[in-house]
Amino acid sequence: MNIEQQITALRDELRTHNYNYYILDNATISDYEFDMKLKELQELEHKYPEFYDPNSPTLRVGGEVTKNFNTIVHEHRMYSLDNSYSKEDLLDWEKRIKKIVDGQIEFVCELKYDGASISLTYENGTLLRAVTRGDGTQGDEVTANIKTIRSVPLQLKGVYPSRFDIRGEIVLPFDGFNKMNEERVALGEEPYRNPRNTASGSLKLQDSAEVAKRPLECLLYSIKGKDLGFSSQFESLDKAREMGFKVPEAATLAKSIDEVLEFVEYWNIHRHDLPYETDGVVVKVNSLFQQEELGYTSKAPRWAMAYKFKAEQVSTRLNEITYQVGRTGAITPVANLEPVELAGTTVKRASLHNADQIEKLDVRVGDEVFVEKGGEIIPKIIAVDLSKRTTNSQPTKYITHCPECETELIRQEGDAKHYCPNYNGCNPQIIGRIQHYISRKAMDIEGLGGETVALLVNEKLISNYSDLYTLTKEDVLPLERMAEKSAENLINGIEASKQIPFERLLFALGIRYVGETVAKKLAKHYKTIDALSKASFDDLISVDEIGDRIAESVIEFFTSEKNIQIIENLKLQGLQLELSAEKLANQTDKLKGLSIVVSGVFESVSRTELKKLIEDNGGKVSSSISSKTNYLVAGDKMGPSKRTKAEALGVSIISEEDFLILIK
Ligand code: AMP
Ligand code: ZN
Repeated sequence: MNIEQQITALRDELRTHNYNYYILDNATISDYEFDMKLKELQELEHKYPEFYDPNSPTLRVGGEVTKNFNTIVHEHRMYSLDNSYSKEDLLDWEKRIKKIVDGQIEFVCELKYDGASISLTYENGTLLRAVTRGDGTQGDEVTANIKTIRSVPLQLKGVYPSRFDIRGEIVLPFDGFNKMNEERVALGEEPYRNPRNTASGSLKLQDSAEVAKRPLECLLYSIKGKDLGFSSQFESLDKAREMGFKVPEAATLAKSIDEVLEFVEYWNIHRHDLPYETDGVVVKVNSLFQQEELGYTSKAPRWAMAYKFKAEQVSTRLNEITYQVGRTGAITPVANLEPVELAGTTVKRASLHNADQIEKLDVRVGDEVFVEKGGEIIPKIIAVDLSKRTTNSQPTKYITHCPECETELIRQEGDAKHYCPNYNGCNPQIIGRIQHYISRKAMDIEGLGGETVALLVNEKLISNYSDLYTLTKEDVLPLERMAEKSAENLINGIEASKQIPFERLLFALGIRYVGETVAKKLAKHYKTIDALSKASFDDLISVDEIGDRIAESVIEFFTSEKNIQIIENLKLQGLQLELSAEKLANQTDKLKGLSIVVSGVFESVSRTELKKLIEDNGGKVSSSISSKTNYLVAGDKMGPSKRTKAEALGVSIISEEDFLILIK
């Protein structure tokens, strides 16, 4: 086998495993073996870039960053659906359409997946692009992000139309959603509220590598195009399955509206057993010919109807209101309820959000309250059953002092939440900050977890992250469940973190509003913590993408004596509080202010290296050409449409050699 055949064979094999795992739910290889093969392919692709394939399974891990999403006009408009809420509504709809079409009408019943809609365009069997619904007429192109979703085929199977659009819904199954939230909570971050918003938020993340980490799925339900080779909705779903798409098996052919009602009743109960969220059923006329006869209103097809399930409600007693303190000091009131069954789970707690919410609902301890589970994972209280309120009931007084440290709470104008201002003395804040410091994206300290941090703080062994570096094995051995080996790992992990580069350490410090990207920007601009700590407000906001809010927060952080002292300690311990010499040597401002698009395959560098070179020299990598693009670095096999667009907009097209001269 020559190299090209070897690469092709590996790609095919990985595609098949992917399909078995993500579409058929039937793994045929261990995760480890899969990773090994993927690695092998990555290495080959890196060594032989001439065999680049934009649809290679290696690209599932993402990496492409999109700053501005292109607007794309949908070839076929993405309509919304008319809603119905009762049997009668559905029967009325049947009557209406029977007046328009002749003959027997069959229906397809599908679940209404609750996520973010997406339109995928395939050309000659490969994914050309993915576009969000937007306003239905035009949406945002989010191809780089969608490619990371394993259940979206990059290369179709079997026979397929030469070009078509396929519509579906990007969902975040409960399992994956809960795992993401566990990680967040362990870091002291607010959990995501519901899977739907998290799924739709994911589509617009700029960094596709971030999207790749989220366990999203794509469920398909409709094909649009010419010469598709089927004449009914039900057949089209089968066709989609044959091409390798994930189409839920629940979809059912109903011969009459009675069978439709049976489907609705069945799923009204069994929806709670599904791995992802549904908010109803979509009923569609099966025959495409009849669909055409029925046509569309200005906003929705006449041949389809959504049936919305009712959000489930129960009433129960409110036993107590407790208050939680987050990593940032934000206070969240929680309703503790008499346990009650709701939508398939036992509910004991409900969110009350903030003081305004409590006042608005006038909830009081002892009240009988109505609890609803909508799209949100944590149920909410929607009303009080006033008929059951006792005469001696008292209005709820919101707490004035922190439940953890008794400091008086503050509430800033425009903020819905109260805060505990005791930054250095309030336990949940101290613990949360250290948990953030050690987390995977920050210092990634091996052998140290969130619970151990809480133990260390509660045992008064540490009170801020710089104290970690003074811990000894003897200090931690007496802790609960701490064995010799784990104590050693912990100390080694802490020691190893001294090598973590400056930009990650800056993120780890937990300065409010300084996330990963901002930390990188600041590190690159100021190069040392000393320079950053002395920066004025005006200086800070002159840095690209640093706004008022971030600038104020940075200044506030460095005004604190305590923070300065902690940073001095980190310095003494040998942490990286400036960019490494190597990084500095490779960094210039030669491309400052320039926006550059990279396309095709290159001889002397990989695309990733090329992009890094652009960033290291102060330029911006952009994924699509616009009038703001300064250069298009063109490699081999660059798509002709990119060239045409660049020429039309007058963007300079340069070669790899030209580029290397630019940064010499
Ligand atoms: P609405 O946003 O309430 O107007 O409902 C229309 C949306 O429902 C579509 O844009 C789809 O994203 C979504 N949807 C979910 N499941 C289905 C399905 N099985 N068939 C059609 N649309 C669906
Ligand atoms: Zn406090």
